[in-house]
Amino acid sequence: MEKQQYIDRAEEAFYKVYNRFPVVFDHGEGVCLYDTDGQEYLDFGAGIAVMGLGYSCGELKAAMKGQVDRLCHTSNLFYNVPSIEAGEKLLKVSGMEKVFFTNSGAEAIEGLLKIAKRYAFDKGMAPDYEIIAMKHSFHGRTLGALSVTGNDHYQEPFAPLVPGVRFALFNDLDSVKAVWSGKTCAVIMETIQGEGGIYPATEEFLAGVRALCDEHEALLLLDEIQCGMGRSGHMFAWQGYGVKPDAMSVAKALGNGVPIGAFLAWGKAASAIVPGDHGTTYGGNPFVCAAAAKVLDIFERKNIVGHVQDVGDYLWKRLEEVAARYGCVQAHRGKGLIQGLEFTGPVAPLVSHALQKERLILISAGSNIIRFVPPLVIEKEDVDEMVKRLGAAIEATHIPGPQ
Ligand SMILES: *Cc1c(COP(=O)(O)O)cnc(C)c1O
Repeated sequence: MEKQQYIDRAEEAFYKVYNRFPVVFDHGEGVCLYDTDGQEYLDFGAGIAVMGLGYSCGELKAAMKGQVDRLCHTSNLFYNVPSIEAGEKLLKVSGMEKVFFTNSGAEAIEGLLKIAKRYAFDKGMAPDYEIIAMKHSFHGRTLGALSVTGNDHYQEPFAPLVPGVRFALFNDLDSVKAVWSGKTCAVIMETIQGEGGIYPATEEFLAGVRALCDEHEALLLLDEIQCGMGRSGHMFAWQGYGVKPDAMSVAKALGNGVPIGAFLAWGKAASAIVPGDHGTTYGGNPFVCAAAAKVLDIFERKNIVGHVQDVGDYLWKRLEEVAARYGCVQAHRGKGLIQGLEFTGPVAPLVSHALQKERLILISAGSNIIRFVPPLVIEKEDVDEMVKRLGAAIEATHIPGPQ
């Protein structure tokens, strides 16, 4: 069937919530995707930071196929072996004490918010306690996650949301202190803001928020859904700061394409949730957990984190060259394989040109920022190839330089 026919059928059938690019992907291999016309694309988006191990990873496919033949689902009324294996591995790499598997990132955030609420309830705080979240954050589209997402455009049509959320400025400790009150029970934030434009927390900020939480017996909840799973050059980005959250969320790269997330906690946050407080039908089923267990196994055996540090440094160096070369690039931020280039104008034409003419998949974060979140298994040659195609796309799209 012709590409346009697929696109027409999709537009007819689906709720119109996405503006999709006119490409229909058929299969993937390594760090490349192939469309229904057989064209190859170099992927620096990884399905929005999901495909950490790249496409068509043989070992992972074998584990998933094996589990399909054995058992896919049982419900959480019973135990299953893959979930125990995935859970123990995740606790080991995170240093947390308890884990709960979810079906998505947003649901993992819902879990963190329930931990905060339950913790405040147990402490005997009045029900009007508050949670501090950050402006320009992104935590997902469910109503709870949306309530702590500091973006008016996303929030407005769905107000009123969960009450008691106060917003501070990321990397501005004074702004956190300014909204702190006797009712504050938790602070939630991304360790590296992803959708908001690839802003890593500064060491002073993260340590400062941790100290405030300790002083007031509030919980620090870190969202590692995008920056976690090795992407920052640490298994979880907070591990590069010497600051430990009370609870954290993970999703995206955890299942390498299989929908799975988790929230994890230790200490007082781990004991806040009791039987009956939370549940899910699919969450932690044997199929998705067989995938996550294998992903975690491959991460350890192949030292993916070490590889990210190495290639991440190289990506940093090459993007510094791009930033120095083109006047329309005004900032370069990030860590490991989560980096961003901020341009002087909207990057939509650049993304579209790169995709359709250079066969390079780039994704934006906000209107002026390109975010680089490739599969973690990319090699330096892939970075070189990307920089070549990116340069061609920048030259072809003429983003206005600084005024
Ligand atoms: C993607 C993302 C989410 C939401 O995850 P979904 O699986 O889309 O629900 C939450 N937080 C961060 C930081 C994310 O990048």
